[in-house]
Amino acid sequence: MLLINKISYFNYCFKDYLIFNSKNKGSFSKSINRAIYESNKRGRLPIFSKDVKFSGVLATSAPKGAKIFIVSSYASLWEKYIRMEPNQRCIYEILLHEYPCHLYIDIDMNREINSKIDKNMEKKLEDEFLEECTSLLLELGATNSKDSIKILTLDSSKGKKLSKHFLFPIDGVRFKNNYHCGAFVRRIRNRFEIKYGTDYEKNRFFLKKEQKGKKKEDQGKTFQIFDFYADLAVYTCRRNWRIYGSSKGDENRPLYLSGEDNTKTRLNQDNFLACMIQRIDPSESENINLFECLEMNETEPYSTNNTSFMNTRDDIPLKSDNSELKHYYETYFPFDDIYKLFGQNNTREFFFSNKDNGIWKKYFFKSVDEFKNKILKTVPSTIHLGPFVDGKKQKELVFDIDLNDYRNVRTCCGDSKKACEKCWKYAQFGILVLDRFLRNYGFENILFFFSGMKGFHCWVLDEKAKKLSNKAREALVKDLQLDNLQFNIIGKKRKYVSDIVKNGFDYKKVIIEQNLKNEFDNACNKFGLELAICYFFWPKIDKEVTTNITHAIKIPYIKHPITGNPSKMIKNDASDNPFCYSSSDTSLSENIKEFSNVINT
Ligand SMILES: [Zn+2]
Repeated sequence: MLLINKISYFNYCFKDYLIFNSKNKGSFSKSINRAIYESNKRGRLPIFSKDVKFSGVLATSAPKGAKIFIVSSYASLWEKYIRMEPNQRCIYEILLHEYPCHLYIDIDMNREINSKIDKNMEKKLEDEFLEECTSLLLELGATNSKDSIKILTLDSSKGKKLSKHFLFPIDGVRFKNNYHCGAFVRRIRNRFEIKYGTDYEKNRFFLKKEQKGKKKEDQGKTFQIFDFYADLAVYTCRRNWRIYGSSKGDENRPLYLSGEDNTKTRLNQDNFLACMIQRIDPSESENINLFECLEMNETEPYSTNNTSFMNTRDDIPLKSDNSELKHYYETYFPFDDIYKLFGQNNTREFFFSNKDNGIWKKYFFKSVDEFKNKILKTVPSTIHLGPFVDGKKQKELVFDIDLNDYRNVRTCCGDSKKACEKCWKYAQFGILVLDRFLRNYGFENILFFFSGMKGFHCWVLDEKAKKLSNKAREALVKDLQLDNLQFNIIGKKRKYVSDIVKNGFDYKKVIIEQNLKNEFDNACNKFGLELAICYFFWPKIDKEVTTNITHAIKIPYIKHPITGNPSKMIKNDASDNPFCYSSSDTSLSENIKEFSNVINT
């Protein structure tokens, strides 16, 4: 059984489904910032959340409302989503106020306490409300054609609860952000106040709502108030917005498009995509018009509640008070060589970031001095590299190996966020394979860098590597990966293995150190020695890093934010021990000198 697990594990290269936990309110902003950081790193993948209640192990201990964050492409989420049990679908799109969105409106009504409003009246209110929204969109110039406004109505009403979402996707147009949607709905409320008066008991667009007492002496009491038809509290930053097909918690009231048969549980992918608030279709991304809807007094729209996330606003500078980190940059960081290798006057995206507050800023640098000054001024905790943006996007070919992906054969450190000399041998084997594989393709300029914690990056710097398309990169990855259906056509891979072993790689020692002797012997009996070695040692690469040109990559010689160890170059024959950081750091200085020699000769 164990062997089967290991074999199937080789097909695992699906990393754009990252999960972070938010167990309480305090860690919410930390988790969401982490998710934003990971999203930015992957070319701004969308972020979703899920109620922890349905997440297995954590479910019982988690407090009410706890969320897990998911960084995933729409396609990957869809693949998982359709396989979920319908009553487990409680996924929210995280609406980031930094980015544009469609106009969205939330309607809730307790039918029990609003008994005067019958089904007929419900319909009348809805029609009048949507009519008013359409008129205002036209009046404000969001679009000049009524036909371009398609209203999607998502309905999850059940019994005494009326619950609907209205979406107003307009082709080629987006609201600047969700605060502008809030300003729009406040304008709508104002129009109904003018039309039906501010005596809310008599205004048909103000409904009875129950509100829990907020003051100390009112705790436990419920008050009835009259509140506007549309919920104005949903225009905050980092808003959780329930997606198509999802229920709130275990209420089993999934949102379906009006007219869809909600007794069926089959979801429609087009509807799934159409109901995303911040999605921009690749076909329209070139010419989106941003629509700004100011408040009625012509001021910038505001968020409807907290300001605790405002530190992630763009106008706050990236800041770190870490003087130790600054000292590291000043003393060791090879500005000249790094800029020479990656800089390329003003056409290269550098991302400075700080994991603690989620700030992620993009810079271009005209010169090494600019690059150096900005680093010393802002002291970023990490620096990532995007593609060249001069003409067609290009980037070096990069492979990422993380020992976390070896958890089934890494008994020494398991799932922990560390590595040791024992499990590093898997990485060494990976380096030896990659170096052979890439030279076989005619690449010559290949450098390896230890991350500072438990993995390495392989940079292929040849000019022809930079020009490779995503498709070509995918083909390379496909050729490199071990496919368990390829038992008989594994020739090239078999040769790498025998070559590496002949050159002294002591796989037996690793197997014994990792207590995997029985498993290894079984595999040998079944498949022969070389294939067995493949199954235990073959490099497990993060496919997305290699194949997605927009995926940002951490540059070499950055201090690892968790271990504090700087990344450094490792030899192509994998003969060095990267865990050796001497107290005087002369080894680091020597390493940097060697790096300089390599790239300047
Ligand atoms: Zn280990």
